[in-house]
Amino acid sequence: MTRRREWLSAVAAALLFAAWVDVASGPTMSTGWQGSTLVVVDAGHGGVDPGALAADGREEKQINLAVAHDLAAALAARGITVRLTRGADRAITGGASTPELEARAQYANRLGATLLVSVHSNTEPTGTVVGPIVYYRAGSSLAQLLASDLEAALATATGYAHRPRPAHHLLLMKADMPAVTVELGFLSAPQDLRRLASPTWQARLAGALATGVLRYLHRR
Ligand SMILES: [Zn+2]
Repeated sequence: MTRRREWLSAVAAALLFAAWVDVASGPTMSTGWQGSTLVVVDAGHGGVDPGALAADGREEKQINLAVAHDLAAALAARGITVRLTRGADRAITGGASTPELEARAQYANRLGATLLVSVHSNTEPTGTVVGPIVYYRAGSSLAQLLASDLEAALATATGYAHRPRPAHHLLLMKADMPAVTVELGFLSAPQDLRRLASPTWQARLAGALATGVLRYLHRR
């Protein structure tokens, strides 16, 4: 092979490799817009704050953390940089609710996050309401867009579809970027509790959330 041919085949190989990597979207790759995207995933509650309690004694904070980890992994696999506000069963300030929520928002603000997804699980007194609900920061059209993409992906993955709702949650209001709270389902409903406790269902929810985030990032 001539030098020029050698050079050309090296370039062709590099291009082929780049195309393959783009399709494969390996966990360490971050190309184009993905490289400048940072998603903060917040696992609601933690440490001394268990969140809601299910009839079987299960604590909301554990389910939130499991899905937050699955979501972080699903986003990283698509080349997106992710930070968790907590990666273990702890609060980041000690647990009192107002300073804790402010600290979580400040964490995302300091990082200059592209968006914030806070993961929670719901309860209500009748035990009959099921399915995920996405709340978005009231007055933010980008957060509303993100919420509608998440809701659409959750509806496809779970068969449930609650309309996204505006909210004035402290965490959402203190965040500088589009921010949503995802209530994964209802611990108060036996059918939802069974599913929320299942690692398979947790992974399915996380996969749907990752799909919704990607859809939002492509069309915002
Ligand atoms: Zn909660």
